[in-house]
Amino acid sequence: MKIIIFIAVLILPIDTIIGQEVPQIDFKGLQESKPWAATEKWEPVPSKVTPGVYAAPPSDAIILFDGSDLSQWRKPRYDYGARMDQVEAIIKLKSKDLVNDQRTDPKWIVKDGAMVVNPGSGAIETKLPFGDAQIHLEFLCPFDPGKKDQAYSNSGVFLMGLYEIQILNSYENDTYSNGQAGSLYKQHIPLVNASRPPGEWQSYDIIFNAPRFANGKVLKPATVTVIHNGVLIQNNVILEGPCIFIEKSYYVEHPDKMPLLLQDHGDKVRFRNIWIREI
Ligand code: MG
Repeated sequence: MKIIIFIAVLILPIDTIIGQEVPQIDFKGLQESKPWAATEKWEPVPSKVTPGVYAAPPSDAIILFDGSDLSQWRKPRYDYGARMDQVEAIIKLKSKDLVNDQRTDPKWIVKDGAMVVNPGSGAIETKLPFGDAQIHLEFLCPFDPGKKDQAYSNSGVFLMGLYEIQILNSYENDTYSNGQAGSLYKQHIPLVNASRPPGEWQSYDIIFNAPRFANGKVLKPATVTVIHNGVLIQNNVILEGPCIFIEKSYYVEHPDKMPLLLQDHGDKVRFRNIWIREI
């Protein structure tokens, strides 16, 4: 019986075996009507961008730090919040005077083409505010075998001054997973640990979509993608609100654009080659 069925299968045409016929397209006969043109989109034409060499900035990037000075940065009057009551107050204060808030010059140090956190001097933030953006930055966690856990080369990239991508030496340095390098602090653990050893330069490439609000309500939460040293570690994750240290986060309506902030967590973390493309 099995042999008979096998022979029958061999004789039947393929489209009968799979139970359907595949229609054929007469491309030659359609040359006049060109039905494929109906689904072609010619506008808008993406503008031409000359890519940089390796991580060098592309032609349409805003250069935030090229190794020479801190002219794109300032010391914010209000730092970042560790708890939601602080965050709420900071958002309220910052919302009033974003662009014209010419605060004091940052006290971080520029040395050997890098800017270095000056411990105790506070965070620095961009003079320009940003919303949706692609961001590239390079950082170095200094080698310091006496340190461990969250105290080993901690800093952070605070998108809009609110949403932190953790910077930490996470090369053979245990800490809580949602606080290690590349975490969306206390919210999203990185997919893998792509950290290089302390003392080596590393990179973050970040794609950030800012949250959208209307009348105090969240229309769309913030999403973040992070590539660490060329490795995808955060894949379009959704944030539940600002990244805070204590208690649970939630959204607070804020302006469409706010400054990018880099954290002073008491460690001499270095930065170089920082650029941003608004999207
Ligand atoms: Mg940090």
